[in-house]
Amino acid sequence: MNASASHDHDPSKRAAHATLYVVATPIGNLADISARAVEILGSVGAIAAEDTRVTRHLLDHRGISSRLIALHAHNEERAAREVLDILASGESVALVSDAGTPAISDPGARLVGLAREAGYIVSPIPGANAAAAAVSVSGFLSSHFLFYGFLPARGSARRTELAPLTSLPYSLVLYEAPHRVMACVVDLAAMMGAERRILIARELTKLFEETHVCALGGAVAWLGANEHRNKGEFVLVIEGAAASGNEAVDAEKTLAVLLDELPLKQAVALAAKITGGHRNILYQRALELKDGNETT
Ligand code: SAM
Repeated sequence: MNASASHDHDPSKRAAHATLYVVATPIGNLADISARAVEILGSVGAIAAEDTRVTRHLLDHRGISSRLIALHAHNEERAAREVLDILASGESVALVSDAGTPAISDPGARLVGLAREAGYIVSPIPGANAAAAAVSVSGFLSSHFLFYGFLPARGSARRTELAPLTSLPYSLVLYEAPHRVMACVVDLAAMMGAERRILIARELTKLFEETHVCALGGAVAWLGANEHRNKGEFVLVIEGAAASGNEAVDAEKTLAVLLDELPLKQAVALAAKITGGHRNILYQRALELKDGNETT
């Protein structure tokens, strides 16, 4: 299959035609898998899976009994060697993660790199990806988006990493855990301005799927509107700075400029007024900026 894919023809490679297929699997709805992905999963010598129980469930649903190898963040190097041995024997291998496209905020990149270095064909079998799905239903007109994935878990580290992203003219795509989504949205509103629009995509393709566009200033209220709203899986898409008009003033820059000239409390009060940002978050950010203080 896929004889046209470019690969290393070095005859010293034992199994030059063995292929590592990087296979996208559903992000919720089990029907979201391509016919070609099903065919490949059923025909390879082995499937390297992030969590073999999750993948077994998917395979059972399709009547596939291929052998599974565990390949996850904590054993990727070792498991990759095992996969390379299978490829060396001339058999192809499929790489899957628990959901969506492997190697996108998921393990797999190390194996892909090693397989490439060894001269094997690496071929994508595209399909579900939570980021692309969310962007596609945002309605934001920006022709570019920046896929960032997960921000750091700790508040101060999150704000520091977010700071250079706040004024980019591209939609920003974030993955966020349910227990942090509220805190993240509070930071986004404080640092990007309450007017900027956000798409909150929750439980995509699943029974309780919700996609909601609102101003960042209203996002906390939406998330808190009922006890289920901050449960499940989330993608956040925040409209780019230029795309939004842009009166959206960069809260981070504004705060930094004011801090150079004014006492901290006054700088925070003015930054909140100018940007529509949340006063408490800006206060905390001001302390961090002044001291390099890494509190959450
Ligand atoms: N590789 C996957 C992909 O292609 O989208 C992403 C894996 S990453 C470990 C998991 C994160 O993706 C979740 O925490 C969530 O932010 C996002 N995600 C995955 N499935 C989702 C879904 N059905 N609805 C909303 N977000 C989802």
